[in-house]
Amino acid sequence: MLNEPLLPQKSNSQFYPAVALLGATAIFLIDTFTPLDIAIAVLYVAVIMISATFLSREGLLSIAAVCVFLTIASFAMTHWHDFESRALVRCLVSLSAIVVTTLLALRNNQATHDLRDQAALLDLTHDAIYVRDTHDVIRYWNEGAEELYGWKREEAIGQFAIALLKSKFPMPLEDISKNLAAVGRWQGEITHTKKDGTEVLVASRWSLQRDEKGRPVATMVTNNDITEQKRSADALHKAEIELAHATRLTTLGELTASIAHEVNQPLAAVVTNGEAALRWLKRDVPNLGEVQNSLERMISNGRRASDVIARLRALTRKTDSIRAPLDANELIEDVLLLVDRELIARSVSLNLDLAPTPLPVEGDRVQLQQAIINLALNAVQAMSTVSDRRHALHISTRLETTEAPEKIVVVEVSDNGPGIDPDVINKLFTAFYTTKPEGMGMGLSICRSIVESHGGKIVASSELGKGATFRVQLPMREEEA
Ligand code: ADP
Repeated sequence: MLNEPLLPQKSNSQFYPAVALLGATAIFLIDTFTPLDIAIAVLYVAVIMISATFLSREGLLSIAAVCVFLTIASFAMTHWHDFESRALVRCLVSLSAIVVTTLLALRNNQATHDLRDQAALLDLTHDAIYVRDTHDVIRYWNEGAEELYGWKREEAIGQFAIALLKSKFPMPLEDISKNLAAVGRWQGEITHTKKDGTEVLVASRWSLQRDEKGRPVATMVTNNDITEQKRSADALHKAEIELAHATRLTTLGELTASIAHEVNQPLAAVVTNGEAALRWLKRDVPNLGEVQNSLERMISNGRRASDVIARLRALTRKTDSIRAPLDANELIEDVLLLVDRELIARSVSLNLDLAPTPLPVEGDRVQLQQAIINLALNAVQAMSTVSDRRHALHISTRLETTEAPEKIVVVEVSDNGPGIDPDVINKLFTAFYTTKPEGMGMGLSICRSIVESHGGKIVASSELGKGATFRVQLPMREEEA
């Protein structure tokens, strides 16, 4: 494991060269000028070991050569005229010790060098890597860790990792340790505190290093900063929740709009017709024919309201819409029954221009009525903002021939209100687009989905300041087309 302080270090001590030099000189002098019959030169081994801590390969070889030279020189000086075989043996032993020590020191230096190279490799990665021993003391700290956490290598090494990083684990540390001991690996998300006090969320991977006997020695920890990633994921999750909420609101809005448009109008018509019936009855000579008409309209509107409720219940049961043969002219007449009261209340005059013959379409009567009612009420509301002219609602129906043989039924609802700004005309059908303070912006979006689900199209056109026209086109019913 690349525990930096455990690697043999190139010593920075300025005294080591001096110690080596003095040592070598002292050994030479003692070896040469004292009559001791022992292999003093063996002590050059110490000089070589000290030199190995601060010299390169070449420097160490030079020192070894100097030690060999001094050993031989000392032997020559003391035994040149007085050859002694035991002295020669001592000299040879010393030389062997010097050579062997030099070789070992060189090998050791090479191994250290290789380890240091490998450790440097770990600095190339962007991951924050550190190694902690079994007592949680940091033994290695790469550049990625310096960058991520802000502590320099010298500051971090020797510190207790958990305390330094104020680690917050996703589960009790004992469980993590058990897991690590059992399988040798663990990974999870940990919150750390950087040197500047800010928190960082990391994806952490731990690998346990064991010695030859299988005992844990150290743990290598590789960390990736996932703070931003997590923040984006959280934001995405929040957006998804908001979207789901908006979807629920849309459904609720559609339902509310249906109830508002579809139930209130027939109820209002029931009230109007009830009042009318009473008026006819209260006459000096009650007009029973009109009373009967009013009562019939009340019944028909009452039925309509209950139809709507049935449709709404069907909607909540997610049943398919009910398709039936319909006449677009009849649809308009039904709609008028429902918006009549509103037109009178707002003093809107009605221009009806219905096709002389029935216009067969196929569809869901309630849904299509809902769409047209919405267009009519939008027109009435738009006109209420202009006061320089009489408000007039124009509704027309006709058969149009597009590319033969297809025929389409067209319903147009026009008003002489303020018109629509060309810049926003395309946004009208988008959900939640509204210019009304109390508006929900759902009406036209619902209209479009209804018309499109009937295979039709809805478009708005306008001359700004003069009014707006909404054109609904539906395919003519097939048998008839
Ligand atoms: P809401 O009525 O709740 O605002 P709608 O979808 O019905 O929602 O309409 C969206 C917007 O389209 C309205 O707020 C209004 O600005 C515009 N609009 C619809 N009909 C007309 C019209 N006939 N004349 C002018 N503007 C209209």
